[in-house]
Amino acid sequence: MVPMRSCIACRSRESSEGLLHLVAIEGQVTPDPKRELHGRGAWLHPRCFELAAQRRSFSRAFKSKEELSTADLEEFLKSGQTINSSTYTKEQK
Ligand SMILES: [Zn+2]
Repeated sequence: MVPMRSCIACRSRESSEGLLHLVAIEGQVTPDPKRELHGRGAWLHPRCFELAAQRRSFSRAFKSKEELSTADLEEFLKSGQTINSSTYTKEQK
């Protein structure tokens, strides 16, 4: 069974396979496609990044009073890497 998660930006529920796992590390929103990092996690559709930035969804999701940096995440999304390495398939676009 695939666990259901909510995207922090659009709030819609989806299987975790369609969402990117994020962890906040030292004020930096860090992508965690292998889901092996510890700490408070959050889930995001890659397409919802802009929405999340506009809505300040990251600070809310990680309960951070400070603005979190999303530079790492942006870089990751731009690079077009798979968001879910454990179920990586050749369907990747
Ligand atoms: Zn979303």
